[in-house]
Amino acid sequence: MKYLTSISLLLWCVLLISGCGNEAASERNDGQHPRNWALAIHGGAGHFGEEDLSEELQSRYESSLEEALRIGESMLDEGKSSVDAVEAVIRFLEDDSLFNAGRGAVFTAEGRHELDASIADGSTRNCGAITGLQGFKHPISVARSVMDSSEHVFFSGSGAGEYAFSMGHEMADSSWFWTDKAYQRYLKIHQKSEAHSGSAQLDKKGTVGCVALDRNGNIAAGTSTGGMTYKQHGRIGDSPIIGAGTWADNRTCAVSCTGWGEYFIRTGVAQDIHGRMLHGNESVVEACRKSIFDEMGELGGDGGVICLDRDGTIALVCNSRGMFRAWAHPEGRGIAMFGATLEGTVEVY
Ligand code: ASP
Repeated sequence: MKYLTSISLLLWCVLLISGCGNEAASERNDGQHPRNWALAIHGGAGHFGEEDLSEELQSRYESSLEEALRIGESMLDEGKSSVDAVEAVIRFLEDDSLFNAGRGAVFTAEGRHELDASIADGSTRNCGAITGLQGFKHPISVARSVMDSSEHVFFSGSGAGEYAFSMGHEMADSSWFWTDKAYQRYLKIHQKSEAHSGSAQLDKKGTVGCVALDRNGNIAAGTSTGGMTYKQHGRIGDSPIIGAGTWADNRTCAVSCTGWGEYFIRTGVAQDIHGRMLHGNESVVEACRKSIFDEMGELGGDGGVICLDRDGTIALVCNSRGMFRAWAHPEGRGIAMFGATLEGTVEVY
C-alpha cells in the first residue's frame, strides 16, 4: 500500500472493483481534458504479495521501475515520439536481470533462452514482432526494426536471428543471459517435473511492457519477455502476438499485457480491449476490466494489462495478486507492486 500515491486513488480503486468504475472512467474519458503525454510500465504480474518479496528486493524493483519511469518521462516531456519512449524504456528493463526479458529471461525446458517481443505504433497501425529469438540483447529493438524496415511484421526462430543479424543488432553469448535467479526457478520446476513424470506448473512473472502517449497525440505499445520458465522449445506466448499481448491504435488505446500467455491468446485480450472501445464505445478502464475479469479471467487465466487512451487516461488492471507497475503524466506519477485486493486491481490515473 505504501507505494500508492494517495488514499483517494485507493478509494477510487475500490469503487471501480465494486462496479462503479464506468462512471468514474467516462468522466475522465470525455476528451475534454486530453493530456500532453502519459506513460505506463509493467514488470510482470503474478500471485505474489508483500510477504513474498524481501524489503531489499522490493526496493530493487522500486528503483528499477523508478529509473524506467524517469527515462520515459523525460523523453515524452522533451517531445520525443511514443514509439521511441516505449523502445527506450523496454531496452532499459531488458538490461536489468531483475526482469524476465532480455538479460533476465527465464530458461526453457532445454535450458536455453528463447525471447519474444513486439511493438506497435498507433499513428500508422504498423507493428513488428519476433519470437524464439536467441542471442540478441534487445529483442524490443529487433521488433522495432521489423516494424520500421521490413515488409513483414513477424519473424520467428532462426529467421528472426538472421534478420536481427542483418540489421546489426547487438549480440550476446549465453553467459549474458545466465542469471542465478532464473536458473533457480528452472531447477525448481525441473525437479517438480521429474517427480511428476513430465508435468509441472509453469512459472510466470517478470515480463516487461510499456505504453505511451506523446505530445503529438500518438500512442504506442511494446512488450518483451523470456516467456514462461520451463516452456517447451518453440512455445509462443501472447507477448509477441499483436492483438493478444500488444496493441496500439490512435483511435482507441495502447495495450501491453502480462500473465498466462495461453489465456491471453485464447481471448485476444489486447485487441478485445481495442474492439470494445472502438465498436462498443466503452471507456479504457471499462474495456480493460471486462477483458481481464470477464473474458480472460473467466476462462481461468491470470495476469494484467497496462493501457492508455488517446486522452492520456491510464488504466492498470490485473486479476493476479500482484503486478509490478508504474505510471506518469504531467499531473502525477506512481509505482506499485501489490494488489489493491486479493482478487486483483483496477486503477485509473
Ligand atoms: N505473457 C508471458 C507469456 O506467456 C509471460 C508473462 O507475462 O509473465 O509468455
